[in-house]
Amino acid sequence: MPLDPYAWIEKSLATIHRADWYRSVTTIHGRPGATVLLAGEEVINFASNDYLGLAGDERLIKAAVSAIAEFGTGSTGSRLLSGHRELHRELEQAIASLKQTADAVVFSSGYLANLGAIAALMGKRDLILSDQYNHSSLKNGAILSGATLIEYPHCDVAVLKTQLLEHRHNYQRCLIITDSVFSMDGDLCPLPALLDLADEFSCMLLVDEAHATGVMGKTGAGCVEHFGCTGRNLIQIGTLSKALGSLGGYVAGSATLIDFLRNRAPSWIYTTALSPADTAAALAAIEIVQTEPQRRVQLWENVDYLKKLMQSQLPHLPLLPTASPILCFQLPSAANALNIGKQLQEAGIFAPAIRPPTVPTSRIRISVMATHQAAHIAKLVSVLKEN
Ligand code: PMP
Repeated sequence: MPLDPYAWIEKSLATIHRADWYRSVTTIHGRPGATVLLAGEEVINFASNDYLGLAGDERLIKAAVSAIAEFGTGSTGSRLLSGHRELHRELEQAIASLKQTADAVVFSSGYLANLGAIAALMGKRDLILSDQYNHSSLKNGAILSGATLIEYPHCDVAVLKTQLLEHRHNYQRCLIITDSVFSMDGDLCPLPALLDLADEFSCMLLVDEAHATGVMGKTGAGCVEHFGCTGRNLIQIGTLSKALGSLGGYVAGSATLIDFLRNRAPSWIYTTALSPADTAAALAAIEIVQTEPQRRVQLWENVDYLKKLMQSQLPHLPLLPTASPILCFQLPSAANALNIGKQLQEAGIFAPAIRPPTVPTSRIRISVMATHQAAHIAKLVSVLKEN
């Protein structure tokens, strides 16, 4: 009897179970929001990336529904063939206006934006330097490009400089890639120092603003604005699926960069254009980001309130360093994190355990929304106190 070539899959799943790394989906019913229905029970939602509470906003829903009525459900083709609509261009111009860049190009997801941009810009003779905690899409974009990939310790500019001194001269082009808000930690990359190094060593810099857009900076443009780096030459990536409450991704930067990506990024050229509904919802969201700064003010008030309560009432649960609405506390094991996540859910709080291989150490990740009420935050802290 020949060996079953698929037998290893079951064994591999068993290993995942043994390590407490097994994952499965949880079903949410109804619309997204500060509270959601999870397994039939109403829970306070600290698990969402919908930082401004726009994914369930009537204006986004109306924009999506009208776009479907006018343009249909599917884009029917890639942007360069039959998929392009004026709506896509309007969204790209709105992103460029928010980011204060010359142009932008919209992808079907943030993941595809990272894969496509990095693969288009870099090749076999090039060097990519990547923060060790970068998102999977940056890491896989680097692998896809075929460039030599070196990781630097998290946010460690001194080591990055040493690596540049040692390796930069052996390669043609060089690209530094980093999340701006680290998605599973909540801290920020040292953007001004990275830009200075990029200048010094003639490197490009690509920064992933997925968790920063709509959240960081006075106008919600992201960490580039937060650090006063607007207008500097760099490549900004982001998603439409977090604070912008829709689906899709983008690259923003110089007109030449965007023109080049439209000709070379495989995950833009060979995939169907973003659906009319997603495009219209994101466009409506950017207008809200630009005209309703009070949402951001409320978000940061909520973050401050939660931090203050945690520091005073839960000193045994120190937060990982954070400067964003993502707040995490570490736990000794994956089993422990799973257990706390389960207890929280039973007490009406949805804040998931994040485990390896997503992160090196297990933790509970809390993400704060502008639409959380003070009572939601107080309840989270009182439940954590009991557990
Ligand atoms: N970059 C980062 C830092 C992210 O956290 C995510 C989403 N988890 C992405 C990119 C991918 O974005 P999208 O969900 O739009 O594919």
